[in-house]
Amino acid sequence: MNSKGFVRPRTVGQIGVIAAIVLLACLPGSAAASTGGAATPSAAPSPKGSPSGTPAAAPSAGALTLVAGKTTPRKSFYFGYRYPRLSYTIGSTQPENDLRIDVVGAAGEVVKTFYRENVAPNVESKVRWDGTTNEGRPARNGRYSFRISPQSAAATAPAARKATASTTLSLGFAFYGYAFPVLGPHEFGMGAGRFGAPRSGHTHQGQDVMAACGTPLVAARGGRVQMSTWDDAAGNYLVIDGKGTGDDFMYAHLAEPSPLKEGETVRTGQPIGVVGETGDAQGCHLHFEIWSAPGWYEGGAPFDPLPLLRKWDAYS
Ligand SMILES: [Zn+2]
Repeated sequence: MNSKGFVRPRTVGQIGVIAAIVLLACLPGSAAASTGGAATPSAAPSPKGSPSGTPAAAPSAGALTLVAGKTTPRKSFYFGYRYPRLSYTIGSTQPENDLRIDVVGAAGEVVKTFYRENVAPNVESKVRWDGTTNEGRPARNGRYSFRISPQSAAATAPAARKATASTTLSLGFAFYGYAFPVLGPHEFGMGAGRFGAPRSGHTHQGQDVMAACGTPLVAARGGRVQMSTWDDAAGNYLVIDGKGTGDDFMYAHLAEPSPLKEGETVRTGQPIGVVGETGDAQGCHLHFEIWSAPGWYEGGAPFDPLPLLRKWDAYS
């Protein structure tokens, strides 16, 4: 029996991230940063990120302005449903412009670069970032911006007008590697609910997150469903092989079997089931484990997920 009733889940959209639009360039004329964007189909997988492109042999660009620009969504997750996408329209003193578009971290570090050749002014272009760095690794949590600049300020081609170093255009957004898995009011179990708490014959291998039965659960990190089944102790449970990490993520005591099947791809933030008290659970809660590489009963070891859960909870 569930005496706590169902809760109304917090929606992701309720947690606003205000990302400032910073236009580092001088913007003569009407620079407009539009907002909004069309809703995406619910369970559609993310498209691939845009190709990186290659630097132009003889880069050339005029003096740039940002005519219009937007970044959607303002918050996204690695391997999530929607990748950060920049739509931009430049103004320029030249008909063709060789641009570089950098994804820049909060400390000013460039994590990813896209090269674009012969970009015309007053035509909208788009770049979609899949959340990986130039080295192909998942980018760190944090605030980022797209920065548009000429490929080279050192104009060597006779026709090229020298673009100044200040000709950069920047649009901010937040990007996170993980989503908090419980979409609703919750408390972290202490004492017996902590990682490492004694159990008969073993220790507690995860962290309990107390929440009303029926509270939606989402994948903290997407990837591939490694296991989706029943166990007398874990009840209905799910193990996800986290994309871009050797870690595995285990969710137990789900009220019903997860709709996800073994081998299926799951996105960060995707619903995976609801909180229950199946198996040997006492009270409605999520039992959550993280296993280090190479993973859950594949040679890895469970570690205390509470510090990470607290971190994800703070921004989700
Ligand atoms: Zn537990």
